[in-house]
Amino acid sequence: MYALWGKETESGEVSRNLLNFIRGKIGPEKDELIWPGRSTVPDLPVHDELRELLLQCIQSPSISFNSSDRLRHSVGMGGLDYIKLMEGKGVRVVDAVVYPTEEEIRCLLSKKDERIEIIPYGGGTTVTGGISSSGSRKYAVSLDTAKLDFIRIDPTNNVIEAGAGLRGPKIEEELQKYGLTLGNFPESFHYSTLGGWIATNAAGQESNRYGKIKDMIIGVRMESPTGTYQDRIVPGESAFFKLSDIAVGSEGSFGVITRAWLKVHKKPTRLFYRAYMFKSFEDGIEALRKEFTEGRTPLISRLSDESETEMSLLGARDSLSSNLFKSYVAFRMHHLPGAILIAVSERKEDIKFEGGIGLGSLPSRYWYDERYSRPFIYNELLKRGIVAETIETSALWEKLPVIFRSTKEKFDETTHALGVKGIILCHSSHQYIAGSALYFTFLFYAKENRGEYLQKIRSEIMRNIIIEGGSISHHHGIGNLQSQFLKEYKGNMFELTKEIKDYFDPGKSLVPGILD
Ligand SMILES: Cc1cc2nc3c(=O)[nH]c(=O)nc-3n(C[C@H](O)[C@H](O)[C@H](O)COP(=O)(O)OP(=O)(O)OC[C@H]3O[C@@H](n4cnc5c(N)ncnc54)[C@H](O)[C@@H]3O)c2cc1C
Repeated sequence: MYALWGKETESGEVSRNLLNFIRGKIGPEKDELIWPGRSTVPDLPVHDELRELLLQCIQSPSISFNSSDRLRHSVGMGGLDYIKLMEGKGVRVVDAVVYPTEEEIRCLLSKKDERIEIIPYGGGTTVTGGISSSGSRKYAVSLDTAKLDFIRIDPTNNVIEAGAGLRGPKIEEELQKYGLTLGNFPESFHYSTLGGWIATNAAGQESNRYGKIKDMIIGVRMESPTGTYQDRIVPGESAFFKLSDIAVGSEGSFGVITRAWLKVHKKPTRLFYRAYMFKSFEDGIEALRKEFTEGRTPLISRLSDESETEMSLLGARDSLSSNLFKSYVAFRMHHLPGAILIAVSERKEDIKFEGGIGLGSLPSRYWYDERYSRPFIYNELLKRGIVAETIETSALWEKLPVIFRSTKEKFDETTHALGVKGIILCHSSHQYIAGSALYFTFLFYAKENRGEYLQKIRSEIMRNIIIEGGSISHHHGIGNLQSQFLKEYKGNMFELTKEIKDYFDPGKSLVPGILD
């Protein structure tokens, strides 16, 4: 099974300069591939008892016991998932994968069979362990929503009704025919699904304009062990909460979201691009705060810290124009480090930032054109034993500089104590009038104990973020990884959330572990 990001046939163009820079900083000394990025799995046992149970509700061709299929559905795409695949240990492989229709999901959940743990699966792009089996039941079944792939467009009301299994490109292709857009463009756009976006409350790169997925939804349908639930499809309501209010971010714990109704918008026909360099990340944050306070909202504004800026410039394609550009930036910045801000908008006035050195449109255009290619660099790092991981949060403007600095310090302290070399990068994207998300990417190299080191670094960073007033996550959800902090983070809201779970899933057969 090909285990890395994207299709095996697409490698993405990865800069040699960048790879060498990373190796030079954290190792390994020798440029050696230790893993081909493929995982093999022996023929796994097939349980007749489970087959019989599933056949009570699901047609035989929609049930898979294929070993590779089962492995693919047992791991997400976070650092820990890749370490398990690289080292060939630690994955709890599911016992079956099913591809049911809405009716078949209803039937399966209504059985409330205590022997089965059911894990909804969209595109498997979770980076927080959202599709990992808890191993608490006799059998683990991955419920793939691929069959829920219809879309109906209602251009009069600017609404779509869409199946949860639809991936980003299909939704946008259909909307394009009407000059419309949903506006949700996560970096995982090509592989993640509508159901996954809702279950994790995802945020696309254009969230400044269109919001997170929760802002796009006007209703959902959900199948749960206690029945089928659905919202009334109206643009506004003031009667307690809607189902969509609790389905968003529920990570499959309350039920399987099978379809959703979402608002759509006229697609901009023209975009303007600008980039700026700030002396420091903190200066850039202040410029963003001013921009949003004054009511200007770029479609995309993404500010990289000094380390991410350095790596982005190194990672740019080796061409005459990009080399000239790099020399120009070095000259304008007097060869000092800086923080680059990429701004894109359909309105020119939204991308005029104060206090930065203007870099023209080239870096923003480049970033926009390459916006789905970044994960390919991680493929190359993983093949060399370098672990890449992300943690993201959000906070009020005044807290951002503290969280930024203290998280970087915590990372340095922890890697130092573990005796490994690492790099941590940060950017601000997804801004609001009240604050912004901060997205940390970190890399480290280790020959052994990679999983243990990663868990230690993750938990030190998470704890620090929570103490300093950040959110437990901004758009990656909770999964099995962040769930250990949920109780501490939510306070007595944690008990309320558990009560809601008990209502929908009293037998706790859906993704047990997350709310325990
Ligand atoms: C390279 C990369 C880039 C990414 N970029 C972004 C980004 O820009 N923005 C962002 O928000 N996220 C991003 N992510 C994270 C991930 O893509 C999102 O969390 C996404 O929403 C997951 O969708 P999925 O369909 O892959 O869900 P899965 O990974 O299959 O599942 C995620 C969780 O949702 C549950 N679930 C899935 N479908 C349903 C359903 N129909 N009903 C109930 N529960 C369900 C699963 O049980 C699991 O708990 C990125 C991930 C990667 C690997």
